[in-house]
Amino acid sequence: MKRVVVIGGGFAGARVAKKLNGKCNLTLIDTEDYFEYAPGILRVLVEPEHYKKLHAKHKGYLPDSKVVVGHVKKIDKKNILLVGGKKVPYDYLVIASGSNYNTPIKEQDTFFATRVKHLLEANKKIQNSNKIAIVGAGLVGIELAAEIATHYNDKKVTVISSGSKILERNSSKAGNYARKFLENRGVEIIFNERIIDKDKNNLKGQSGKEYPYDIVFFTVGVKPNIQFMQGDFSKFAPKGIEVNEYLQIPGMENIFVAGDVSNIVEEKTAQTAEKHGDVVANNVLALINGNSMKKYISKKRLMVISLGKRRGVIEHKGFVITGWIPAILKGFIEKMVMSSFRR
Ligand SMILES: Cc1cc2nc3c(=O)[nH]c(=O)nc-3n(C[C@H](O)[C@H](O)[C@H](O)COP(=O)(O)OP(=O)(O)OC[C@H]3O[C@@H](n4cnc5c(N)ncnc54)[C@H](O)[C@@H]3O)c2cc1C
Repeated sequence: MKRVVVIGGGFAGARVAKKLNGKCNLTLIDTEDYFEYAPGILRVLVEPEHYKKLHAKHKGYLPDSKVVVGHVKKIDKKNILLVGGKKVPYDYLVIASGSNYNTPIKEQDTFFATRVKHLLEANKKIQNSNKIAIVGAGLVGIELAAEIATHYNDKKVTVISSGSKILERNSSKAGNYARKFLENRGVEIIFNERIIDKDKNNLKGQSGKEYPYDIVFFTVGVKPNIQFMQGDFSKFAPKGIEVNEYLQIPGMENIFVAGDVSNIVEEKTAQTAEKHGDVVANNVLALINGNSMKKYISKKRLMVISLGKRRGVIEHKGFVITGWIPAILKGFIEKMVMSSFRR
């Protein structure tokens, strides 16, 4: 049987692995022993018990595959080298190593029990803080501000953005709704300010102003996880990893890329990562079985932004729905995705 190795067990890698489980000699390598539903993590920061709904151990949904918990250090054309020296050979490789965020929003190299401990600690810190600063007014910064503002009414939440609007990649209708929602709940939003430094109690802005905080969350500076793309591989990953229309590294037929780590210019979302995963799983099997591969077609997909538990925004092709329907839809998607790991 052909040896297929998947690096990364997030939305893209887990999707590929689930589709290939039992159909080849599959190994999933991840820095963690679990899949985590990242879009639900911000809720855990204010409602810690919610973590119970967001995780699935890789081994549980991959009964016929091998799971290796380890950190990939380097790859070559035949092997994967892990930190610690272990070598894993492959015939086909899928790189789905995603992107990194500041903790506690995303973490690497943690086992499930440690991850839970860190999330609970983060919640305690929020509870014990009066001044909460959030740097960045994109999707994650805005959802986080809304979670905190709707769960606690005694906190001073400040969102600081270098831009002139919130949710800059969304329509102004979506941005205006979210802005009003936050401002009505006492969140202060500061525009056109770049944070250039911080000490223990203050963020320092380029304007010269200082912003006091007890706890700060940086939601900017997300980077693809490409540190192992060294030597011959580095030229394919100046930023994200370059791919052709079949999601292969150009000129390397047996190496595929899926999810946030690819350099495709599109919204980096869980949904998109899953679509990549579908195409890659199909194409790996096509090569193994001598069939023809599918092309990946990038397109704008539905976006659901939650504003606390009971409000949100749906946006699709310029069409915007605000209010409680998006919040219900977001919860429903979370349930559907997580139940797909428990079958
Ligand atoms: C707080 C938050 C909220 C979000 N909300 C939404 C939302 O509402 N809707 C939506 O569609 N998207 C949302 N997203 C985006 C979505 O979560 C990402 O687009 C998605 O997780 C990308 O999946 P991925 O598999 O490419 O990468 P990741 O989820 O980043 O997974 C990559 C995996 O690879 C592992 N890995 C990395 N490097 C190595 C290595 N060297 N060796 C071994 N393993 C490695 C990591 O540990 C990780 O498990 C949100 C993201 C965040 C952080």
